[in-house]
Amino acid sequence: MRTKIIAGNWKMNKVAAEAIAFARDLKVKTLNIRKTEIIVCPPFTALAIVHDILKDSRAEVGAQNVHFAASGAYTGEISAEMIESAGCRHVIIGHSERRQYFGETNQLVNQKLIHVLTTSLTPIVCIGETLEQRQSGQTENVIRTQLEESLTGLTTDQLKRVVLAYEPVWAIGTGVTATPEQAEEVHKFIRELIRSRFGQKSSDLIQILYGGSVKPDNIRDLLSRTDIDGGLIGGASLNVASFVEMIKITEDLIN
Ligand code: PEP
Repeated sequence: MRTKIIAGNWKMNKVAAEAIAFARDLKVKTLNIRKTEIIVCPPFTALAIVHDILKDSRAEVGAQNVHFAASGAYTGEISAEMIESAGCRHVIIGHSERRQYFGETNQLVNQKLIHVLTTSLTPIVCIGETLEQRQSGQTENVIRTQLEESLTGLTTDQLKRVVLAYEPVWAIGTGVTATPEQAEEVHKFIRELIRSRFGQKSSDLIQILYGGSVKPDNIRDLLSRTDIDGGLIGGASLNVASFVEMIKITEDLIN
């Protein structure tokens, strides 16, 4: 049985003092959570301090991006080893904002993924179509290509350590959410692609998160769908009360 994950992507928000206040509050408010996997992804500057506060709690810490090399002359970049040493357990790879504003391609996502899998980090690999691609009937082709190219060279054993996130670009930060039916349709398609390449067991085991304007009002319907294993949440994860509300709704769904 797949566990459910609630992951908060803070993007470029919260200075250290704000991150500390959030983490302390989250720790207290999630004391009764037993089943939901909780992940918070602060900016790099707050990873270590947030981990320090949350280390004895249920919540784990993830980074929002990573470089493909372990070290070297890459000014301004951060490696998986550095993220690990800050106490992180997860890292987001290929978020649509990285693709859109920083030119990240599926090939780069694949390079990053291959390196991250040499560390202890769990990669959360993001895929998703733009509005234009959806409207022109390209959703399945785009998802297929993103998945194939991002997962090139991965073994079945390596795939066991990967979490996928389906994030339709048109739903990210826009307030427009995919309907549970639209999301489930693509999640099912992704699971089928995984089955055809890696086999039934991998397809049954892989956790696929949905992301795109998830909030307390819509999370129950989305996460009730068979193939949706959690949420990767931006805007609504910035406020502790709404983040905790979504965690509690998820916990309730599991029970
Ligand atoms: C995200 O950042 O991955 C995201 C889905 O953002 P939002 O929830 O704000 O749409």
